[in-house]
Amino acid sequence: MVLVPRESDSADLIRVRDLTTRFYTEEGQINAVESINFTIQKGEIFGIVGESGSGKSVAALSLIDLIEEPGRIVGGEIWYRNPDLAEMVADATPDAVDGAYVDILQLSEGGRHALRGSTFSMIFQDPMSSFNPSVTVGEQIAEAVEVQRRASANPRSTRARTEDFSLVSFLLSSALPSRQFVTPDSKDRAIELLEQVGIPDPAKRAEEYPYEYSGGMLQRAMIAQALAGEPEILIADEPTTALDVTIQSQILQLLSELQDETGLSIVLISHNLGVISRICDRVGVMYAGELIEKGDLSDIHQSSVHPYTQGLLDSIPDFEHPESSLQPIPGNVPSLLDSEMGDGCYFADRCPKAMTTCREKPPEFTVDGDDDHTVQCYLAREAYDPAKALEDNIDSEEPDATASTMNREQLEHSPVEFDNE
Ligand code: SF4
Repeated sequence: MVLVPRESDSADLIRVRDLTTRFYTEEGQINAVESINFTIQKGEIFGIVGESGSGKSVAALSLIDLIEEPGRIVGGEIWYRNPDLAEMVADATPDAVDGAYVDILQLSEGGRHALRGSTFSMIFQDPMSSFNPSVTVGEQIAEAVEVQRRASANPRSTRARTEDFSLVSFLLSSALPSRQFVTPDSKDRAIELLEQVGIPDPAKRAEEYPYEYSGGMLQRAMIAQALAGEPEILIADEPTTALDVTIQSQILQLLSELQDETGLSIVLISHNLGVISRICDRVGVMYAGELIEKGDLSDIHQSSVHPYTQGLLDSIPDFEHPESSLQPIPGNVPSLLDSEMGDGCYFADRCPKAMTTCREKPPEFTVDGDDDHTVQCYLAREAYDPAKALEDNIDSEEPDATASTMNREQLEHSPVEFDNE
């Protein structure tokens, strides 16, 4: 597939096309991520939401090339806009370059790894298990700074942004590794980073061990560590799940402020649409390894079409109307074992609008015409293109008898009006 960058798309920092990641286990093939497409724009916060087991974390790990055996990225493209990198790799791997974009999946393993920290960085759900308990927090952040500094000075690295660790320093440190890995400069930078993420008295705190930090402060320290290489894209995988509600709010605010101040792009992953809605500009909804609906925040909140997205919205507590009850989505996420996945829509067993067609063949990814709000559901045709729906005779179908009564009632109260209701 040849991707031609268009002028109007110049804000796209990342374009993911048909990304597919599978795990080959003793039980069989697991289709964790199946042909997903999305973009990440420069300076935006893109949210990925879905239940546990929907494939959102695997999608993020695929971006940063952290999929481990028995998993493998088996298909797709990840185009990263970086004119310097494109020029650097054009001769050796011409197929991996298209204008200012580079398909990072076509780079060598070393080339992909060099992008970690400097292009992509990641923070995880549980900061307590991400830090070494026997090393001070400042030392661990300084190590991350030093690793990036040395990698930048390496003439074989794909980036060279840090100037104060010269090529001579790099050669000397490689030939005569000192016992002390981190330098005073790296420690100073670690303190600056702790200050940037709002740690009070950062010089003193840098000397403390992880157990001396509260959960919220440790999450801030992990964000500081992730910023050590000045990444362009920060992937935050459930960064607030292990925190209590007031601290959650502070961490979300911090991410939002960092994005404002630095122009960083952030991919925020959460099972909680309420969290995603707080700070994201655009949202992708994942279900059973597929990206079943995506659009900007208002598309998802005010004109969502996919019944799963609507179910997630109905699951958000409404504090303005405490008398309203939460509406759970009945059933569970289906097995992603290839041998157990059906032929039709994977949501059909839980969907109140399921039709016979839904169970026979999968819905195609349908675009509403402006390319920004996309839905993988037969109902999208009715919502966006009544003429096409008539032509396909889809609107004459009654919901499947196995559809959930409870959710059908929910849909009747949802803000979206379908032509066949
Ligand atoms: S209406 Fe059909 S295609 Fe759409 S979510 Fe329900 S089962 Fe899937």
